[in-house]
Amino acid sequence: MSVPAAASEQARLDELAQYDILDTPGEESFDRITRLVRRTLKVPMATVTFLDGHRQWFKSREGLSDCEGDRRSALCDVTIRRGEPLIVPDTRADPRFTDNPLVTGAPHLRFYAGIPLRGEGGHNIGTLCAMDTAPRAFDGEDVAILADLAAIVMDELRLRLLVSTDVLTGALSRRAFRNEAGKAIALALRHRHETSCIAFDLDHFKTVNDTQGHAGGDTVLTGTVAACRDLLRQSDLIGRLGGEEFAILLPHTGLQAALSVAQKLRESIAAQRFEGVGGPFAVTASFGIAALSTAASDLEAVLQQADEALYAAKTAGRNRCIAAHAGAASNSPFGRRVLKAGSIVFNGGRSVIDCTVKRLSDEGASLAVIDSAGVPGRFKLAIEADNFSRFVHVVRKAGPEIDVQFA
Ligand code: GH3
Ligand code: MG
Ligand code: MG
Repeated sequence: MSVPAAASEQARLDELAQYDILDTPGEESFDRITRLVRRTLKVPMATVTFLDGHRQWFKSREGLSDCEGDRRSALCDVTIRRGEPLIVPDTRADPRFTDNPLVTGAPHLRFYAGIPLRGEGGHNIGTLCAMDTAPRAFDGEDVAILADLAAIVMDELRLRLLVSTDVLTGALSRRAFRNEAGKAIALALRHRHETSCIAFDLDHFKTVNDTQGHAGGDTVLTGTVAACRDLLRQSDLIGRLGGEEFAILLPHTGLQAALSVAQKLRESIAAQRFEGVGGPFAVTASFGIAALSTAASDLEAVLQQADEALYAAKTAGRNRCIAAHAGAASNSPFGRRVLKAGSIVFNGGRSVIDCTVKRLSDEGASLAVIDSAGVPGRFKLAIEADNFSRFVHVVRKAGPEIDVQFA
């Protein structure tokens, strides 16, 4: 990839990050669309796909068992790079795809039609695609149907950015929280009030979804926001920043007072009992707390400090509250949240594994890969868009996640 290509890939990832869709659970509004693709176009497989640094990930899939795959072999990657519909009537007759592992092995793609999902910023963040294990003809009418359905996927994503209240929990949406909290902070700065921010994330929520189903998970989310509201003041703001991640802004509250609020919230969340498939169950959450200070003098900076402290609470064992050190440049060796394409380079440059960089600081980074098993303890991490390349050593590996510290 040349440097301009890396820069535009970074702009594409920035646009994808805005929609906050990666690794969220399946939803009826997208499943309905892949079902429609399957039924109207009479294909056995259909997906709504998003592409991050190293993988294609399916928000919805019909007729496929895996929920993600390596980006290098993804036909959807070819579609987004072209930026126009890609129709392959017979993969075995197309020299670009005859050796593709998705053609030669499972799911044995013989036919592929993909429409790029283009965001408002003009970047192709994913695809809507139809696939078959047999070759087939696909006429202009079929392409038009698929293109209309792809436009519906993008409409759905855009509308979500506009709403101010999260429908499930009643918390503020991410955008509304940022707006309201931004105003509260401006006021606090003008009148020299103390103001603090709490970020929290439910612990092991994937397991809750796996054991209780998504409906059970949704009940936990609703209950958790209700439990927080019971304890918070009317003037406090609570927003849902992502799947099971929330932020609270506490006007007229310093760091120590915010820490004790967080402790109460933590206890109250853990004290809830939910009716589960195997009897009542409970959940916990981890908290990061930060206050407005000279080192964190706007919403972005306070949220970032709270988020880094939250990450520290996760790595320290979860179900706990950690306050950011006022004045510290960074509270976690793995730093701020990013979405960047990276390469894990080892074996004297002969081996390369693609990764997505999820957090980055001066000290280290958190990476995601398809499978961390083949990743050595030391390697060179390269981030092309940033012209960055450094030797690192692995400090933690867990499934697809790797934390590294710079040498
Ligand atoms: P950790 O303790 O490290 O936070 O582990 P975790 O399992 O909670 O990990 P992570 O925060 O990465 O996972 C978030 C999970 O939350 C993944 C996703 O399936 C689930 N999730 C996100 N949004 C929703 C939602 O609206 N409803 C339900 N039921 N689950 C959701
Ligand atoms: Mg979680
Ligand atoms: Mg989370």
